[in-house]
Amino acid sequence: MNQILRKINRFVNKIEIVLGKTRLFSYPRNVQIEPTNRCNQRCIMCPRNTKLDVPIGNMDFNTFKRILDKLPAVENLLLNGLGEPLLNKELPEMIAYASYKGIRVSINSNCALIDEPLAKKLVESGLHLLKISMDSADPKIYKAIRGASLEPTIKGIKTLVRTREEKRSFRPQLWFNSIIMRNNYKNLDEILILGDKLKIDLVRFKPINTLWSGQNNNSAIEKKDLEKEVERGIELGRSLNVKHNLGDLLERLKADIYQRPKENIPCYSPWTELYIQYYGGVRLCCEFYSKKDDIGNILEEDFKKIWNGKKIRQIRREFKRGNTYLSACRSCNRFQKNILLYNKIKKFRIYV
Ligand code: SF4
Ligand code: SF4
Repeated sequence: MNQILRKINRFVNKIEIVLGKTRLFSYPRNVQIEPTNRCNQRCIMCPRNTKLDVPIGNMDFNTFKRILDKLPAVENLLLNGLGEPLLNKELPEMIAYASYKGIRVSINSNCALIDEPLAKKLVESGLHLLKISMDSADPKIYKAIRGASLEPTIKGIKTLVRTREEKRSFRPQLWFNSIIMRNNYKNLDEILILGDKLKIDLVRFKPINTLWSGQNNNSAIEKKDLEKEVERGIELGRSLNVKHNLGDLLERLKADIYQRPKENIPCYSPWTELYIQYYGGVRLCCEFYSKKDDIGNILEEDFKKIWNGKKIRQIRREFKRGNTYLSACRSCNRFQKNILLYNKIKKFRIYV
């Protein structure tokens, strides 16, 4: 599907959201595909350690191609699931195939496996964005959080940055994705300094989902303590070249945007996105970790039968009224994004 048809799909999709349609003519715009659920790290906050209930496996290139060819309107493709995507040797080929179709491809990676040949393949693949999971610049804290050494990650990043420069490419954009939790919130400045030193394009901090939810006391932080650390980071950032989102984060903290609203907020994810496992299992989004959350299998069924099947239509019916009743939705913090859309849709007073 070329870009014009993608635009038409986007337009129809938005209309269908506003009208609260449960059977959709439009296709999903944002898709996440899992190339593997193998991993070379063991992060303490990762659901992979506790919730994975499918065998460990890989997707091969032909399977990936079959899946992507069934999804003609994808605009954004995130190529990873519960695992390190670079463990799949065919990943650069998958990225190149999707990029050739005009899809914006990104991955999340710890970069520990990047050597020169892989760096070349990644730069040449057309990969748009690589988000590097970087929860600490201190090797001891990094190891405590991610169960792995920081050194191979630093080496991998340096190789990738050098290759990108040699090839005079500005892609992939390299971001640090830093999850703020109790173990690291006092070291935000060190992450900024490391990002600056490694010539990272953006350091993006994000509080862990359970930060103030009271679900996991180990990750709880006093809001005022975090604000103080964020302010310290902003001050330091003035003397560095690296871009970061601490200013925005501070505004959000002060506006209490991370607090779950009392009002029931719809979730529009089942209208726009899907998460596909390496074996073809289709889930609503990446917050669902169990095989029993599969709403179909894209390798075994006609895609439109899954996308407009009984299960997902029932979910859309409930979700559009703010009844996000599925267990994974309780700890999900995407309500911030949904609130903005909800407030716009509310003006139409069509079904809410
Ligand atoms: S690298 Fe990613 S998938 Fe692997 S354990 Fe850490 S968070 Fe989980
Ligand atoms: S509320 Fe969150 S977990 Fe539930 S479907 Fe929406 S994005 Fe996914």
